[in-house]
Amino acid sequence: MTMIKVSLIMRVEEVSGSALPAVISILQGWSASIELLLLTEAPVTEPVTLPIGLVQARWVDYSVFDEGEASLALTLHQATRDSDHLLVFEARELRPLAAMLAALRGAALVTDVISIVAVDCCQRPVYAGQAIATVKTRAHNQIWTLRSQAFGLRESVSMQQTVLQRCPVVKASGTGIKVSRQPHSSVRPPLSRAEIVVGAGRGVSLQQLSVLSAIADKLGAALGGTRALVEAGYLPEQSQIGQTGEQIAPKVYFACGISGAIQHVAGIGGSGIIIAVNSDPLAPIIRHHADYFLIGDVSEVLPAILDRI
Ligand SMILES: Cc1cc2nc3c(=O)[nH]c(=O)nc-3n(C[C@H](O)[C@H](O)[C@H](O)COP(=O)(O)OP(=O)(O)OC[C@H]3O[C@@H](n4cnc5c(N)ncnc54)[C@H](O)[C@@H]3O)c2cc1C
Repeated sequence: MTMIKVSLIMRVEEVSGSALPAVISILQGWSASIELLLLTEAPVTEPVTLPIGLVQARWVDYSVFDEGEASLALTLHQATRDSDHLLVFEARELRPLAAMLAALRGAALVTDVISIVAVDCCQRPVYAGQAIATVKTRAHNQIWTLRSQAFGLRESVSMQQTVLQRCPVVKASGTGIKVSRQPHSSVRPPLSRAEIVVGAGRGVSLQQLSVLSAIADKLGAALGGTRALVEAGYLPEQSQIGQTGEQIAPKVYFACGISGAIQHVAGIGGSGIIIAVNSDPLAPIIRHHADYFLIGDVSEVLPAILDRI
């Protein structure tokens, strides 16, 4: 059997999660040659604790790329030329990157992978998470984006301190491809990795959103919301939870003034306990999704909660 080469691409912030060792342990079952490319905004000078089994680990400093350039995509394309598979650990801002890499490589792109079945077979949610599709690809050259939260570690994987090499940068200009970055500037944890997520929907006014933000800060939670609030300009685009936003898997999701539309619920399936506050007892989030709920007006409930935590 020919050994396949797999390149893993992820942001350095994701390294400490369980997804990387979980995926590496799956790939080791294929006897794959595995290399890791870490995207970072600062040089990696110290050894990093990584799973054993990587043939190479490199870092790419994407702070050197100017907005509007395709240099990051070209750099990764160059760095992974001899790989059969590219697995991109999904972060919202890496989705366009995966698409560009697929175009550059002429590769088959499968997004939102939640389970790896075989070298050419994976599973992904469809119909806003209502069904799971098993996707079998015939292409030799593939890119999959992985939903990191879906890959929990089942067995222990040995780790070791690993020295990373710098990946040389390819500068591109005038390609007409735009790579945009939205660095995570908040002190709150990122939505995709937060243990508690506080979510706001159309039922939350701008004034109540500041109360909810204060609750999030007291709980050390991430703050997200529905598309309605993003479109209203109350929350930044990267805060959107759902089918076309972030997928979350917190221990607790606190959903306020959110109806529970199918496209929103598609992003909260990994949540442990769902607590909802809504004035409508018939709202789908109350009837079908919440483990605990409070029927009431957020303008009364949220200040009372803030007072008590
Ligand atoms: C292709 C497509 C993709 C989409 N992707 C996403 C996505 O990724 N994420 C997403 O969120 N949406 C997405 N949407 C939009 C989605 O369909 C819903 O429109 C949206 O989720 C509704 O947001 P909401 O719950 O904030 O608003 P609403 O559905 O209007 O619900 C507001 C809720 O607030 C309650 N409420 C009102 N006032 C109060 C109060 N004072 N106190 C307490 N409760 C109150 C109401 O009872 C109601 O249940 C998508 C839509 C499409 C078509």
